[in-house]
Amino acid sequence: MKAMVLTQQQNPLKLEEVPTPIPGPNEVLIQVMACAVCRTDLHIYLGELTHPNLPLILGHQVVGKVIDTGPGCKKYQLGDVVGAPWLAKSCGQCFYCMEREENLCDNPLLRGYQINGGFAEYCLADEDYIFAIPSDYSPEEAAPMLCGGLIGYRSLKMAGKAVNIGFYGFGSSAHILLQVARHQGQQIYAFTRPGDTITQDFAKSIGAVWAGGSDQLPPVLLDAAIIFASAGELIPAALKAVRKGGKVICAGIHMSDIPSFSYDLLYGERSVCSVMNLTRQDGADFFALAKELHIRSHVTNYPLEKANEALLDLKEGKFRGSAVIKINSN
Ligand SMILES: [Zn+2]
Ligand SMILES: [Zn+2]
Repeated sequence: MKAMVLTQQQNPLKLEEVPTPIPGPNEVLIQVMACAVCRTDLHIYLGELTHPNLPLILGHQVVGKVIDTGPGCKKYQLGDVVGAPWLAKSCGQCFYCMEREENLCDNPLLRGYQINGGFAEYCLADEDYIFAIPSDYSPEEAAPMLCGGLIGYRSLKMAGKAVNIGFYGFGSSAHILLQVARHQGQQIYAFTRPGDTITQDFAKSIGAVWAGGSDQLPPVLLDAAIIFASAGELIPAALKAVRKGGKVICAGIHMSDIPSFSYDLLYGERSVCSVMNLTRQDGADFFALAKELHIRSHVTNYPLEKANEALLDLKEGKFRGSAVIKINSN
């Protein structure tokens, strides 16, 4: 099969011909139709997340067709369209797995980091850790929901009953979650890089009640803020914008160092927390919601061999919404 392979961090992915994997026990072979690009892929590519299992095929927002099944598979039929996320498997034995908090598993397998992902024509997945894609979604529309949607949804759940919510960093995840939040009666305030009026206009066009730079304060005090961007200075900025008792939730896997700030910003029972991975229950809940509410992903497509361009465009903020690697099906 054709795959874009990372052989060394901070070096471009290379288009290579590699063996098509064969499904083992409980695994399905997915013919990839679309794989969305996540900021985490960029962190791995740039070396900000260390020790990937090289050589590696990136990509953990995989949507495709089941075309083969290994021994013991019983959940999916050939031809079913499924989605495979970042959490490829949890150990099932640690304290967290026992508590059904498999997102915190001590020994998880992570797709596109420790095992191969979806920047390829085919990808393996354990059938217990994938989701059926609702039939009215196209593969490229569904792909950004596998991480941006799912982990974003977990972050939004952490905001609890918050009504006025700030989104810091208005990319793939935020534009999907805005639609879920509006459906739940919440109001979204979008914060972008200062001066990025293109993204601010985009946020308003899809329903943000206010949009501005991350150096600005919103017109009301926020009940919660979710930080999707990876800049540590957004934590004190967001604390300034939330009310007493408000929550600042960090949705990303990597963040630059947080500058020191006055305790006054945290006092008043404000809190800062992070979100790690996802549980299968998050996936079930999110896709049930996605079925009811047709989420529109704003997508820019790239062919497989242009995966490097997709990553660099993400780094430079060249598109609104999500980048998706679209694989031509044979
Ligand atoms: Zn575990
Ligand atoms: Zn991701």
